[in-house]
Amino acid sequence: MRDGRTEGDATHDAIREPTGDAIHDVIVVGSGAGAMTGALMAAADGLDTVVLERTALLGGTSAYSGAACWLPGTQVQERAGLGDSTDAARTYLRALVGDTGPDRREAFLRHAPELVARLESDPAVEFEWRAFPDYVAAPGRMDAGRSFVPRDLPQEELGDLLPLVRPAVDRDRAGQGHPDGPLTAGRALIGRLLLAATRTGNTTVRTGHRVIGLVTEHGRVTGVEAETPQGTVTVRARRGVLLAAGGFEGDDALRTEHGVPGAAAWTMAPPGATTGDLLRAAVRIGAATDLLDEAWWCPGTERPDGSAAFTLGLRGGIVVDAAGRRFANESLPYDRMGRALATAQAPAHLIFDSREGGGLPAITVPPADPEEHLASGVWVKADTLPELAERIGVPAGALTDTVARFDGHAATGTDPDHHRGEDPYDRFFADTRNAPGPNPCLVPLDRPPYYAARLVLADLGTKGGLRTDVHARVLDGAGDPIPGLYAAGNTSASFTGRVYPGPGVPIGTGMVFASLAVRDMTS
Ligand code: FAD
Repeated sequence: MRDGRTEGDATHDAIREPTGDAIHDVIVVGSGAGAMTGALMAAADGLDTVVLERTALLGGTSAYSGAACWLPGTQVQERAGLGDSTDAARTYLRALVGDTGPDRREAFLRHAPELVARLESDPAVEFEWRAFPDYVAAPGRMDAGRSFVPRDLPQEELGDLLPLVRPAVDRDRAGQGHPDGPLTAGRALIGRLLLAATRTGNTTVRTGHRVIGLVTEHGRVTGVEAETPQGTVTVRARRGVLLAAGGFEGDDALRTEHGVPGAAAWTMAPPGATTGDLLRAAVRIGAATDLLDEAWWCPGTERPDGSAAFTLGLRGGIVVDAAGRRFANESLPYDRMGRALATAQAPAHLIFDSREGGGLPAITVPPADPEEHLASGVWVKADTLPELAERIGVPAGALTDTVARFDGHAATGTDPDHHRGEDPYDRFFADTRNAPGPNPCLVPLDRPPYYAARLVLADLGTKGGLRTDVHARVLDGAGDPIPGLYAAGNTSASFTGRVYPGPGVPIGTGMVFASLAVRDMTS
């Protein structure tokens, strides 16, 4: 039971939530940003569309997200007067990803402006640009960022659909519903897409439907099998099945099999929601896969319950490995810092002083309560650095030297070791009020007591999965499309390979390829 709802609960005036066998034009599996975009596009085209969601709530990790959408060259950037363009984004992606998957990159770039125009033509969907720098210094980068977010959504607009939308991660993990006030970020995105899809009158939502198998007839995917509280049901599709049900970040067995570091306990996806059912189901009928060892990485501060909090935007502190040495620019974009963590000597710790009154000088999602973290031992506090080092099992001399060297860099304003503070992204989160020296990203650690927070390799979802083409069609081992089967979001392998170009790439690419899937179904 969650928010007064049980798995398979089915009463909402605005949508039908039936169970049992059925047939529709389009089946969308999952209910994140890609899935809901696909559902809206199909329903807006007049197709009878069903969304099948495993849990009682819609939105998955997308609902937890900041909902930044990296969709370049659209009317949103134009309204903001940014001077962004498809060409600039192409230059940037080529520089980062090379010509791996150029066809899908082009399909993405070409379709993004059209998709956003179509979405915003619906009164329920509105976006606004928000500053958040692209993640890598490369030609075509926008230092102020090109991604945008949905406008906040007043709760009353959602009406009785509100309890269907997954709350923010802290409230969801605590079993609480939405707070008063408008839905923001990922909740606003899912809410807006749900509202728009619902208003078409062509959308059916079924929660409590865990899709476990694909139905094929004469080599074509014509439906799915789903476990429900009432038993297994078969839902058929006349046009196609879109798998947009996240990755396999929540399944330790699949992580181990494919060499994905980290752990299911540390992923930011809703616990138990994304366990790779669709990857398994599609592979069983011959689908090809790619990039299965990849994820959208981030540092995670370990929490008292063994889960992790997405940690980004450091305003101070340093990160050291088990030898007490810094190993990266701590202000790196979170995916790049995650990659550095993956190869560092574990355990790593974020070392900070009392400049922020004992609070972590970083953003964590969910927020961290220092007292609780100290009591559980995942954070440690000590009056001196040698004492702190001893308590976390790091050589005291090494930690003391590292801090002394760093404090020296803070005084001069340059970090010859890791170049912290040289990039616009580094400076985006810096707090000049806290930084006495010339470089706001180099804040000395000189205010005891000192703290150490244990860092783990967390993720925002795996990014390898089913191989797809420019129409989001799932490919088989020979590179041919499997008729009737499509994939988007983290169920598919990202064309961005091993790079996270900027804020909103997971969601933006998921939305575009879900829309392209529907376009192919209707062509
Ligand atoms: P999800 O959004 O996780 O949706 C998958 C859904 O499928 C879930 O509801 C799940 O229950 C359902 N499902 C799974 N298996 C089945 C099954 N067998 N049958 C039926 N349903 C099933 N990315 C961005 O692009 N921009 C951001 O601003 C951003 N901010 C983030 C902030 C936070 C705090 C976090 C945690 C992540 C953020 N991310 C962001 C990452 C991003 O949210 C995810 O990578 C992305 O939303 C994944 O989308 P998805 O559709 O693939 O999966």
